[in-house]
Amino acid sequence: MRCVALDPGSALRAVRDAVIDGDAVIMNGVATPIDLLLSARWVVPVEPRGVVLENHAVAVHQGAIVALLPQAEAHVRYRATQHIALGEHALLPGLVNAHTHNPMTLLRGLADDLPLMTWLREHIWPVEARVLGPEFVRDGTELAIAEMLRGGTTCANENYFFPDVSAATYRAHGFRAVVGLPIIEFPSAWARDSDEYFARACELADALRGDALVTAAFAPHAPYTVGDTSFARVRLLADQLDLPVHLHLHETAQEISDSLREHGQRPLARLQRMGLLNDRLIAVHMTQLTEAEIAQCAQAGVSVVHCPESNLKLASGSVRPRRCVAAASTLPSAPTAAPATTIWTCSARCAARRCWPRASAAMPAPWTPPARCTRPPSAARARWGSTRASARSCPASAPI
Ligand SMILES: [Zn+2]
Repeated sequence: MRCVALDPGSALRAVRDAVIDGDAVIMNGVATPIDLLLSARWVVPVEPRGVVLENHAVAVHQGAIVALLPQAEAHVRYRATQHIALGEHALLPGLVNAHTHNPMTLLRGLADDLPLMTWLREHIWPVEARVLGPEFVRDGTELAIAEMLRGGTTCANENYFFPDVSAATYRAHGFRAVVGLPIIEFPSAWARDSDEYFARACELADALRGDALVTAAFAPHAPYTVGDTSFARVRLLADQLDLPVHLHLHETAQEISDSLREHGQRPLARLQRMGLLNDRLIAVHMTQLTEAEIAQCAQAGVSVVHCPESNLKLASGSVRPRRCVAAASTLPSAPTAAPATTIWTCSARCAARRCWPRASAAMPAPWTPPARCTRPPSAARARWGSTRASARSCPASAPI
């Protein structure tokens, strides 16, 4: 390691030529040792929104980002054990896949262009009954992790059976995740009945408590596969364990008509009756919403996850992200920059802000490892500027 002592006046000029791996520039002998310095042609932070920083660096120490600053200043202030120079790259935070069934990556292409219930009942569920198990979950999750990392995704909101295997797989690969604790009214290889689903859910929730990389959420599958008794238990336990509730909701028109026939209520009203319409709820799909329901969700602080790729595959419809954000923004309590329900718009999946803070709270360094980015900064700026929410483009990995 070569060290150059500089006076403050000449430091910034001198360090421009000293960006060599392992070098350190010490100003008055007080350069701070850190583990890693990532310098990139462009750095695209989440905040401030819509900003692309040129020739900046990210300083990392003990797994946490300690500074984001101009490269010249970084080489004065820090002495990095490792320096990675990304000369023509854009460095941006890791992307978040806000709803996925990653083990189902192994079922990709099994059945296409079918209505949701036909697809589930006649194709997916019968196949799962034959192949579902720890090995299937591990292998599918590992494949999905590889695919997600290639696209810059470093965190997933998982929703599948054998969440213990998912959690172990994510942890083994250093991948951040919120694993869903499945609740559904039919037996599977994971659990035989409702009591066993809840017992295994609580056991895993306890095991993951305090885990810095992988956390848990209750994942009742959908209103059409979960009964009122189970929903009541989810509500009680989610409150007691302080966990989010990750749920498919208002995905198709048939879901609405079936609910009206069987329960005399739309699914959202049914959840409201059971006390589940609150800021714990991460509601996925939401393609069938009235104006009143959008306002109701905004008022309750519900997170909405938009899955355009899935909705296109199954012709389910589409959420109206801008309308949801606008509704949340009109609330008296909504801060100007962060409405109660914020849609994270992206090419394949979108998440509301409630999902991200819960995930990021347990993940102190939400920055992706340096990944090559082919999109020029001007395009990134235009894309991010086109929505009121922070945009995170996520690769597709599982269809529903
Ligand atoms: Zn899904």
